[in-house]
Amino acid sequence: MNEVVFNRYPKEQNEYSALVKEINKQKFKTEPLAMVVTYGCQQNVSDSERIKGMLLQMGFDFTEDAEAADLIIFNTCAVREHAEDRVFGNVGALKHYKRRNPNKIIGICGCMAQQEIVKERIRKSYPYVDLLFGTHVQYRLPEFLYRLYTGNERIFETSMEQSVVVEDVPIKRDGTFKGWLPIMYGCNNFCTYCIVPYVRGRERSRDYTEILKEARQMVKDGFKDITLLGQNVNSYRSPVLSDSGEEIDFPRLLRMINDIPGDFRIRFMTSHPKDCSEQLLLAMRDCEKVAKHLHLPFQCGSTRVLEKMNRRYTREGYLKLIKTAKELMPNLSITSDIIVGFPGETYEDFLQTLSLVKEVKFSALFTFIFSSRPGTPAAQMEDPISREEKGKWFRELLKVQEDISKENETKLVGKTFRLLCDDYGRKEGYMAGHTDTNICLEFEGDSSLLGTFVVVETEYVDNCLTAKLI
Ligand code: SF4
Repeated sequence: MNEVVFNRYPKEQNEYSALVKEINKQKFKTEPLAMVVTYGCQQNVSDSERIKGMLLQMGFDFTEDAEAADLIIFNTCAVREHAEDRVFGNVGALKHYKRRNPNKIIGICGCMAQQEIVKERIRKSYPYVDLLFGTHVQYRLPEFLYRLYTGNERIFETSMEQSVVVEDVPIKRDGTFKGWLPIMYGCNNFCTYCIVPYVRGRERSRDYTEILKEARQMVKDGFKDITLLGQNVNSYRSPVLSDSGEEIDFPRLLRMINDIPGDFRIRFMTSHPKDCSEQLLLAMRDCEKVAKHLHLPFQCGSTRVLEKMNRRYTREGYLKLIKTAKELMPNLSITSDIIVGFPGETYEDFLQTLSLVKEVKFSALFTFIFSSRPGTPAAQMEDPISREEKGKWFRELLKVQEDISKENETKLVGKTFRLLCDDYGRKEGYMAGHTDTNICLEFEGDSSLLGTFVVVETEYVDNCLTAKLI
């Protein structure tokens, strides 16, 4: 499609932002309240942080109370039917709030909003939705709000004519020690079941100098866990060369971020097996700050089905990659995504998924029953297997993984780990944290430990893996 354009955050958006802020001061006695609801993946969470950053600059404060909110934005996901149904249900429920307060602004953005069919449904059936904007024009939120404040028109803006990477969009991060750092947007892969390339556009990588600048700032701000984000993160390729004229690909970028001084961890997601090179595995092994955790979705253990999915690797290729990864990093934790019941998948194909799961012994799996997305090639494929039958396969898979997880757990007893304490435990007086291999452990401790690294030893208590500070 279109050429990629690299921009700074446009001056006119800052001007619109200042105008909206001024109107807000005149319209409201105190700061107006915005509620941003995020559905779907980490990319959406990261986009919402930028939406909140722009809103903060326009003088908004934040609430989670829809009744109190003067502006509600739903940042939506189109990957699964279930998520879309939830959005329509929740937007429907806003009708009453709007009736009670006609000045309340209701907006929808994200991947769902980018689809023409959704846009038209919202336009016709949800007249109280004032604003709908797609993934490519998100940075123009100040302009949209200004137009809503000063005009009488609803705004529906989903243009994708130009693929733009906009730097310096204001940001309000949700966390203080764990954060997202998008390094590329979009996807070129067109897996036949996936809507992402249609709603997020083709791959656009950020300039590596911008990424390094943001990473340095995050470390300076106290972030201890930085996750590099991209729909196909390991196909990253900087649009500009290094000072010495070399290409900066993903392994090189990892090494550069690893060189930033400070005590922090680097994670990344989501990787595609076809772009998982030996250079990447070597960079993971060599970089002490890069977490020894690889999330590598294989989706199905049958090469025949992988071809129908357009995944561009084979079962054998995937297993070879895992073997190399484990040889290079014996303690590596590997997680994956699996789709059960892709159109045309037989029980024999599914058995190949089960055997792959048993062979690799994943630390964790994210498993889904196939969900058809209108507009994708898979939605046109014959799908003779009933949902009930797929449900049976699904439960079989869960049982196999449950046994593997128990087996993996016993191997962890009596070991020492460095955790980033990132949450409260389920019991009073307990905290929780993640190892760099992404295992969550609970230990006795207090909230002063939040956001710090601690060292623990694991033990079995009441049939449950737990940990104690050492
Ligand atoms: S790699 Fe495939 S599944 Fe992942 S975002 Fe791209 S098209 Fe979708």
